[in-house]
Amino acid sequence: MEKKISLYASVNKQLEKAAGIMGLDPDIQAILSKSTNEVRINFPVKMDDGRIEMFSGYRVQHNDILGPYKGGLRFNPSVDIDEVRALAAWMTWKCALSHIPYGGAKGGIQMDPGHYSIKELEHITRRFTYAIANNIGPEYDIPAPDMGTNAQIMAWILDTYLSSIPPHERKNCLHVVTGKPLASGGSVGRTKATGQGVVYCIQEWAKMRKFRLNKATYTIQGFGNVGSWAARLLKPQKAVLLAVEDATGAIACASGIDPDQLAVYVEKNNGVKGYPRAKAIDRETFFRTKADIFIPAALESQITEHTAPLLNVKIVAEGANGPTDPVGDSILQKRKIEIIPDILCNSGGVIVSYFEWLQNKRSESWDLEEVDGKLYKRITASFKETYETAQKYKTDARTAAYIVALSSLEKAYKERGIFP
Ligand code: GLU
Repeated sequence: MEKKISLYASVNKQLEKAAGIMGLDPDIQAILSKSTNEVRINFPVKMDDGRIEMFSGYRVQHNDILGPYKGGLRFNPSVDIDEVRALAAWMTWKCALSHIPYGGAKGGIQMDPGHYSIKELEHITRRFTYAIANNIGPEYDIPAPDMGTNAQIMAWILDTYLSSIPPHERKNCLHVVTGKPLASGGSVGRTKATGQGVVYCIQEWAKMRKFRLNKATYTIQGFGNVGSWAARLLKPQKAVLLAVEDATGAIACASGIDPDQLAVYVEKNNGVKGYPRAKAIDRETFFRTKADIFIPAALESQITEHTAPLLNVKIVAEGANGPTDPVGDSILQKRKIEIIPDILCNSGGVIVSYFEWLQNKRSESWDLEEVDGKLYKRITASFKETYETAQKYKTDARTAAYIVALSSLEKAYKERGIFP
């Protein structure tokens, strides 16, 4: 993986571009170019062997003009203040684009969760939650899963949060975190939601461009929650998965890789490396694979000045947050490779988080048909709004998605004014 440049600088570059095209009020742009609160916590945890290890955890709250702060918690070695700041801002744009009443936040702990036992992971999660308990809340800032975290970790966060607040303040606090397991107040359809949203966007794009998904070929980078669900949900569409890359290596098979079988293998072996029904390829060969669709569903800054010229696809469907850096973006545009931008393409996760939050608040539980139906309606509406805005402003889809999001934020600021 290549060394990354400042991610937050990329976020502000994207913001500047959209602001210029739409004529965003410069005062509002100045407000949105900074995060509101940034918390960094260094905390000790006792390991299984009795040793103490120090960890650094972050929570950045970017903006809450449209509603409580919302966004995932990431456990990954890449986590630092610059990454979390960028991811928090993307959550603000994502929620504003989807018209869900949330602001944007993000958090994480700098570590490799694969290096720790389940017991250690629980202690790390609980110690961090205890430390940030005063900075989160069901109507204030609502964490969720992201890279390296899952429903089990959300259950520990809920439990620790409830144990950290005085009993008379507990009331109904189930919605302090989303992406929980079902028995702890989770929603059906949340685990697959981001991948499901990616597939709904690809289907909308295919309809718009009169492109047949049947026998369409695709490649995926990252086979975690987002990548594996996108692939499994593309299987009934009869699309063919040609190659997959993750942190352990890359594999390819010209006759197609079965996503369900690969998901079972990855679960057991923690990566695609060594998958027996495909051949190992190198990173460059992976990027050069000719296919119709590329789904980056791993870390940010993967499509760069080095890799963008290699891609041989029609469309990049951004399952990850920020997979394309500004130089990579302009290379793809010049090469007429379309992009379904991250804040639209991967918004299924936070949209279904919102549904989970509503169910918790109303003491309801919806069935899968209702969750999927509502997700489809919202994400296809955002898709339509984004592509209509792109036409109106004669600009690319990413800039258009930003224009939709920034217009909502600007309107709210103009209506409410700045205190005092
Ligand atoms: N981590 C996911 C994202 O980046 C989901 C956030 C959420 O559900 O709050 O969109």
